[in-house]
Amino acid sequence: MLENNNKNEYDKLRRAMVEYQIMARGISDQRVIDAMLKVPRHKFVPENLIDSAYDDTPLPIGYGQTISQPYIVGLMTELLEPHSDDVILEIGTGSGYQSAVLSQIVKKVYSVERIREIAESANKKIEELGYHNIEILIGDGYSGLEEFAPYDGIIVTAAANEVPQPLLNQLKEGAHLIIPIGNFGQRLWRFTKTAEGIEKQPSIGVRFVPLVPETV
Ligand code: SAH
Repeated sequence: MLENNNKNEYDKLRRAMVEYQIMARGISDQRVIDAMLKVPRHKFVPENLIDSAYDDTPLPIGYGQTISQPYIVGLMTELLEPHSDDVILEIGTGSGYQSAVLSQIVKKVYSVERIREIAESANKKIEELGYHNIEILIGDGYSGLEEFAPYDGIIVTAAANEVPQPLLNQLKEGAHLIIPIGNFGQRLWRFTKTAEGIEKQPSIGVRFVPLVPETV
């Protein structure tokens, strides 16, 4: 661990992460860049991996789950085209890092996680860090979160075999759903609800843990 948890050192590593992993790869939305400069990613990884927090890689967070690679978080957030008045739904809270990044840009983030221990640990973290516009719920995100629908955007951080219809139903017109789809070869897709129907746009190949039905 860096000496005295040296905040300046982590700030430096975070600036380098944003410069070389995010901006250098073409993420240009200033809101995304600013949010990733602000959120202390090292607080969202297990203590023993803290010095890898700003590396160009996903990291294990326990229960067979991972915190996504920083670039993937940046890309998914940019594809979502978030605005300051938005209410966003995330499926797959994991570490809570993606929620925290979104919370810097939008009005409200609802995040659904199926593993209770993971949800509780993420919740504790976001409370400690003072992110008041994030609400974490335990449940099966495959059916979305009807209670607060429709959303200005939905982001799914686990891979589905096909796009869950409830998530498309819970989008506002003009809103995007960002989701990895596939089994062995996965691809990130952006679905957009328009007056004429659903538009579908491919993005890059990715590797996510699977979206699993039922809670534990
Ligand atoms: N967004 C996270 C990374 C998530 S990893 C981050 O920033 O760290 C994927 C998460 O999705 C895991 O925690 C997994 O438990 C959760 N998950 C898998 N299937 C799910 C489902 N059906 N509903 C809700 N969460 C699910």
